[in-house]
Amino acid sequence: MKTCYLIGYPLGHSMSAVMHNAAFQSLGLDYRFKLAEVKERDLESFVESSLRSSETRGASVTIPYKILIMDYLDELDTVAKHCKSVNTIVNEEGFLKGYNTDGIGALRSLSETCGSLKGSKVLVIGAGGASRAVCYHLSLLVRELTIANRTLETAEALAESLTANPMRISRVSAKPLHELKKLISDVDIVINTTPIGMYPDTDSTPLEAKFLKPSLLVFDIVYNPPKTKLLREAETIGARTLSGIDMLVYQGSEAFRLWTGLEAPERVMKIELRRVLGEGF
Ligand code: NAP
Repeated sequence: MKTCYLIGYPLGHSMSAVMHNAAFQSLGLDYRFKLAEVKERDLESFVESSLRSSETRGASVTIPYKILIMDYLDELDTVAKHCKSVNTIVNEEGFLKGYNTDGIGALRSLSETCGSLKGSKVLVIGAGGASRAVCYHLSLLVRELTIANRTLETAEALAESLTANPMRISRVSAKPLHELKKLISDVDIVINTTPIGMYPDTDSTPLEAKFLKPSLLVFDIVYNPPKTKLLREAETIGARTLSGIDMLVYQGSEAFRLWTGLEAPERVMKIELRRVLGEGF
């Protein structure tokens, strides 16, 4: 049997095991997906002892290790190199290669909801591991991309690295979080990539309701709960909303293909998530 892990800390919010184990079972694969709640001081030894083991096929990586994990890998694929962030690892006989499927998942989910993103003005809240991947893919498509983050320097570093990419077509800028009210008045799409509102902190929102407007598409990449406070308040004022569930399935589907070489049973994954997350899916 081959094992794939989810590496993060803490992992109380995670639905990855539910989704991937349902997918492995439905195709009759001798694979299992296990949670690995690893403290930062134990990350390197987990990589060396468990991840490089011949019984391990790979891993998903979540908050807070998408950036730190790169220090322990042998190679990065092109997208992960551009994103400077890894959410998927494949173990080829002890050689660990890092990938990032978050951006592909986010963009596929967004495009299904709003069609072409060409010409859009997008505000991304957060500049962490998931944001790096989402922003990298957006910067190849949209007209304007604004990144607002609690730590301005992190947003500035991200904007600078996106701007240096010759394939980029967006005008990219970095702003402090306290300018959200002003920033939102001039965008079509707002994307939350922070964990604010994620279980168990479900009464928090990254964006005050009074800043929202009906013409917005509000995408929250948090998927647990599927309807965050941000999405509930956006719905109330008549804005279009998109939860992180489809992104979760699509980024997981890409990871599944990298581990098994097979197309993921996305329908099965969605059904299983719906069963477990229930109301508000
Ligand atoms: P991360 O690398 O730790 O980044 C977190 C980001 O959020 C940073 O920009 C951080 O700002 C900001 N932040 C954190 N707490 C904050 C607070 N209290 N106030 C303001 N800003 C705050 O995390 P990540 O791996 O990108 O994950 C972020 C979220 O995305 C998680 O909830 C994760 O579950 C979700 N996610 C969902 C999917 C999906 O498939 N739907 C995929 C990936 C991630 P600073 O720079 O100032 O610290």
